[in-house]
Amino acid sequence: RIAPVADELGTVFAAAGHQLFLVGGSVRDALLGRLEDDLDFTTDARPEQVLRLVKGWAESIWQTGIEFGTVGLAKAGFRVEITTFRSDLYDGETRNPEVTFGDTLEGDLLRRDFAVNAMAVSVPGHTFTDPFHGLTQLAERVLDTPGTPEQSFRDDPLRMLRAARFVSQLGFHPAPRVVAAMTAMAGEIDRITPERVGAELVKLIMGEHPREGLRLLTDTGLADRILPELPALRLERDEHLQHKDVYEHTLTVLDQAIAQEADGPDLTLRLAALMHDIGKPATRRFEPGAGVSFHHHEVVGAKLARKRLRALRMPKALIDDVAMLTFLHLRFHGYGTGAWTDSAVRRYVTDAGELLPRLHKLVRADCTTRNPGRRAALQRSYDSLEERIAQIAAAEDLARVRPDLDGNAIMELLGVPPGPIVGKAWAYLKELRLERGPLDRETAEAALMQWARDEGLIG
Ligand code: ATP
Ligand code: MG
Repeated sequence: RIAPVADELGTVFAAAGHQLFLVGGSVRDALLGRLEDDLDFTTDARPEQVLRLVKGWAESIWQTGIEFGTVGLAKAGFRVEITTFRSDLYDGETRNPEVTFGDTLEGDLLRRDFAVNAMAVSVPGHTFTDPFHGLTQLAERVLDTPGTPEQSFRDDPLRMLRAARFVSQLGFHPAPRVVAAMTAMAGEIDRITPERVGAELVKLIMGEHPREGLRLLTDTGLADRILPELPALRLERDEHLQHKDVYEHTLTVLDQAIAQEADGPDLTLRLAALMHDIGKPATRRFEPGAGVSFHHHEVVGAKLARKRLRALRMPKALIDDVAMLTFLHLRFHGYGTGAWTDSAVRRYVTDAGELLPRLHKLVRADCTTRNPGRRAALQRSYDSLEERIAQIAAAEDLARVRPDLDGNAIMELLGVPPGPIVGKAWAYLKELRLERGPLDRETAEAALMQWARDEGLIG
């Protein structure tokens, strides 16, 4: 089913003597019944001609991709991209081809990444072109390159990541020769900028089957290049200490985190699930035979998560959230099940802040052991932690823990002007508040004065 807007655009081009084809991901997604509001076209018209043709027809036009031959436009709720036929030459060094416009549809389809992305439908005539058996591969759910994968990945190594991304998004399987080429050529990915690697990895993680996409990256050695902390977890299989395979565990936690998503894919949660145990190899090396030190593990894990996500050029707010979740997820196991004091509960909630719902999901996803009885016991024990949180939250405002005395009261009681002392006193009172819960005015004032005496601020 081709959207009427596509035929309408095709008629505009035909009237000017040009060809227009729906192409690439749009044809693939239309056949899979998952077409959304992106439409990709290819044409023999040159970009300036395309601009002239769509002016007046489009609701808005953007030219950010014009040097690569792409004109973008919006019409009737669709995002449309029209790219002039290309027949790119690659220099074998960078992945930036010398953009050359071509004259044939077949030439354009040949330089595309996978056969399922190299099908075209003419508009408005609806003639189907499929030189590389994309339709068969689509039916078999296979990803294969139009030419040899070695040539294709040499031309553009990003395609190796796109393969893993489509495995995750579409649930397709890579052809054996594609896996072989990825394995042999994994090192070529170093030619791709971290921004592009990061963007592709995000699409993979946000797909429907990230576990399969990640497995392909690990099995081919690509993960060693772009996300080395993940394959490093495989080394954690240690029969002597009876640790389970942390790599398999991580993929399971990712699946179980995804199973708890309520409003669509949650990048922060998924990345946190992926990163939650990456501190393990390093901390275990510090303490051979002693198992995991919870303190080291949480600090090192958060640090490694930060480092990796920064290297992949992820936004800072996302990095902060993932690092915080990585840091906090261990507290549940660290404190054990019965030992949650009111103070520990307050700190847990305050430290998590807006991340609390995700933290609950992450920790629950992490409550996996091969023993079903033990798993159920862990879940029950997290139920009771959530009940404790609810109880305390009913009695005091946990969402915004503030000292019992504000800055003005502190200055007045201590007789000091605004400055660092007020800040220190405020921090002390906040600690006290977390430790003991709400205090009445008299107790808070007495505590402040005692603190000031201990600090030598007053006699
Ligand atoms: P989605 O839009 O869901 O990310 P898509 O398949 O449409 O998936 P795009 O990145 O939008 O992917 O690219 C559109 C089309 O352009 C692809 O279907 C493919 O035919 C071609 N293409 C994109 N990137 C490459 C590449 N690196 N090498 C070869 N062909 C590519
Ligand atoms: Mg697209």
